[in-house]
Amino acid sequence: MSWYAGDPEYQLIDYDCRLLISPTSVSKNWHIGRFRLSPASVIIDSGSFHYIDAEENKLTKTQKEVFEDQIRILNGFKPALICHLDFAIPRCGMPERKMKERIEITIENAEKFYDICLRNENRLMGIEPLAVIQGYDVRTVLYCAKRLKKIGFKKFGIGSIARLSRINRTEILGRIAKVLTVVKDLHIFGVSSIEIMKQLEQLNISSIDSTTPIKEAVYAGIFYSKPFRRFKIGTEHFKNCWSKKYGYAKVITKPLPCKCPICNGIGSWVLMLRGRKLWNNLRAMHNYYHFKKELFGTVRSRKNMNIFASLNDYLNRYEVQSREENEVFYSRVE
Ligand SMILES: [Zn+2]
Repeated sequence: MSWYAGDPEYQLIDYDCRLLISPTSVSKNWHIGRFRLSPASVIIDSGSFHYIDAEENKLTKTQKEVFEDQIRILNGFKPALICHLDFAIPRCGMPERKMKERIEITIENAEKFYDICLRNENRLMGIEPLAVIQGYDVRTVLYCAKRLKKIGFKKFGIGSIARLSRINRTEILGRIAKVLTVVKDLHIFGVSSIEIMKQLEQLNISSIDSTTPIKEAVYAGIFYSKPFRRFKIGTEHFKNCWSKKYGYAKVITKPLPCKCPICNGIGSWVLMLRGRKLWNNLRAMHNYYHFKKELFGTVRSRKNMNIFASLNDYLNRYEVQSREENEVFYSRVE
């Protein structure tokens, strides 16, 4: 999962939770020690998307600065992957000369990054560098992948998939299959569709990250797995216009039976609540559980007393009213 400050700590319900964190998604003094439970592993990307000066076609942060940010966020945590400072290419509207410049800057930063990693070997025990491939067509993507491999990287990532995924699935899958003939260990950044994730898995990629469980939760979406189903909470608004407009999601007014740690530990009624960050977060954890179950078959969910203590703590921190009051609210939703 891609994790932003304020998102639920998915590791509270999943032993194998792996998070992607961007230096630009957390505050300047945040580090992984602030989590109540550690995730199984993390990827810290460079946050490069926020450092783009489009007019000058340059990045506003140096590779060295980004590296120091990443080490600060890790705060000694491992295992982790840290990404070099790549330069993303927009899907359209950029002259080829500028796109080529961006690829060369990506490769230059990768060289600097690899060098910094070698010089900091002692600080990086359990932390591995990851090179981010950039390109605007199959030819340039392969060129970039080959150059990055030559530097010495063992792990790779490829971005810009999120923007492509709405347009041409065959092209994405074809492009990734070709990249896999050059590099073996590949992470795919930002995939939103579960169908594409399933197809990517068959291509033998190493990992994927997504924000779909929380994004859907914010827009009143509820997932269930095996088979994968996606619903919207039935309010007047969704009943009347939303479901007509976006025909793929059915409306539910009552949660289905569910064994996830949220529905099991608190009660499935919380899934139906809207209008607070807390409800979105609990719904996101339920969605996360089903997303993972759909992709991997099982989730090693945490069901011990500690997790319930943590969840209670979680509820208390948001000053939730008593369960009875919430149930009144729920019956109104119904
Ligand atoms: Zn559930």
